[in-house]
Amino acid sequence: MSIATPVAAAARQELTGFEGRLIGPDDADYDDARTVYNALIDKRPALLARCATVADVQKAVRFAADHDLLLAVRGGGHNGAGLGTCDDGVVIDLSLFKDVHVDPVARTARVGGGCTWAEVDGATGAYGLATPSGIISTTGVGGLTLGGGLGHLTRKCGLAIDNLLEAELVLASGERVRASAEENTDLFWAIRGGGGNFGVVTSFLFRLHEVGTIFGGPTFWPVELGAEVLSVYREFLPAAPRELNGFFAFHTVPPAPPFPEAIHMRKVCGVVWCYVGGEEDATAAMAPLLDALPEPLMHGVGAMPHSALQSAFDGLYPPGDQWYWRADFVKELSDEAVDLHARFGAEMPTLQSTMHLYPVDGAAHDVGASDTAWSYRDATWNAVFAGVDRDPANVGAIRKWSIDYQEALHPHSAGGAYVNMMMEEGQERVRASYRDNYDRLARIKATYDPGNVFRVNQNIQPKG
Ligand SMILES: Cc1cc2nc3c(=O)[nH]c(=O)nc-3n(C[C@H](O)[C@H](O)[C@H](O)COP(=O)(O)OP(=O)(O)OC[C@H]3O[C@@H](n4cnc5c(N)ncnc54)[C@H](O)[C@@H]3O)c2cc1C
Repeated sequence: MSIATPVAAAARQELTGFEGRLIGPDDADYDDARTVYNALIDKRPALLARCATVADVQKAVRFAADHDLLLAVRGGGHNGAGLGTCDDGVVIDLSLFKDVHVDPVARTARVGGGCTWAEVDGATGAYGLATPSGIISTTGVGGLTLGGGLGHLTRKCGLAIDNLLEAELVLASGERVRASAEENTDLFWAIRGGGGNFGVVTSFLFRLHEVGTIFGGPTFWPVELGAEVLSVYREFLPAAPRELNGFFAFHTVPPAPPFPEAIHMRKVCGVVWCYVGGEEDATAAMAPLLDALPEPLMHGVGAMPHSALQSAFDGLYPPGDQWYWRADFVKELSDEAVDLHARFGAEMPTLQSTMHLYPVDGAAHDVGASDTAWSYRDATWNAVFAGVDRDPANVGAIRKWSIDYQEALHPHSAGGAYVNMMMEEGQERVRASYRDNYDRLARIKATYDPGNVFRVNQNIQPKG
């Protein structure tokens, strides 16, 4: 391909039999096709290869590798750092990989690599089953799973990767392989936390759990009680039964139902609950926290399908907002850390900006630090400091709040961060996130992707 030849035109010539769509800058839907969830990301790929079949994925990978083009892989397009796209290179767009096949007897779901969690939850929920994912249903299965997967079911059922039984991948060579506990076991170890570094996952096989109706929702107190609520929460949560997940949060109450008008736009702190079980047990499990604190502004809990809780935040965080976020794993919350949280929580710069502490204990601790690539099995929480707003005028403010907040709390953290909630923060941060597992990941990377074809991610650099 000569430099003067547009990449999209070359791809149309060379990729004979491509069954999906090859979208270039001259196509009418190019702008739609290149848009990702985070409006801070505005990248212009030379080609979007919207693949329809595994053979299409193989062709697109080989095309990018043969022409030495930067290659990004897009699952749900939700990545905060925009790692599902790139400038001037090729994007493999998996949005047509939407199959979800539930086997209610074997309790498994085979899921296409381009699905969102809404599609999976809908299909599994019909059988009263679920697999752990996150807390927002529009997030992609691909990126969330490969980076670990923390959410409402973590304490009861583990991370998303702890329920991954098998994956089918297209490697940097274009070869198609399966990874599981029986096949390509080193690859299977690496993809459970190692992100998109090892290949394009075209399908996942997940274990399902009996999770039909849950009892959950938010409890909010005034943000001024941040230190008091967090001080009780830090002792309460690790001692709570696994059926109870509850992430601590700072929020501003949206001016809409189901929130009472009296607290619209009020800054609050609180806990978002998910109890896998019925009201009576849930109420008993929440009681030690609620009894130790003043009457909340809102205790909006109730029985609902798991999929309803999963989509409860979707309206507050639609595509097209600007996101700048940072994260850190946390083992303990010292008094000083609690005070810093209370200070920054009260200073949230916009309605959608937030801080969440996602529990990483319970079933997530049943798996050893070197059993999968996801190293921080000894963390108690993952803290995420998310500055979010739609107005470009507020970019400076959301960015500053998120960075200042994370930097103030970083000395109180466990050192590394959850790769799925990082921006592009440099190689040292990636290493710190994998700790002792990094060297093994680098060796496996050298086996499966020695040329670092898959480098638009929190990158593991190949080392033989
Ligand atoms: C609003 C919001 C809420 C979130 N909530 C949670 C949460 O509750 N829990 C949690 O754990 N995370 C959460 N995340 C973080 C989320 O896990 C990451 O942003 C993740 O990268 C999104 O995956 P994606 O497929 O949508 O992203 P994309 O932008 O498509 O891809 C992200 C990365 O994954 C790779 N990738 C994606 N799919 C594949 C595939 N099929 N094969 C190979 N590589 C692939 C890409 O190459 C890229 O490097 C949230 C993110 C947002 C924006």
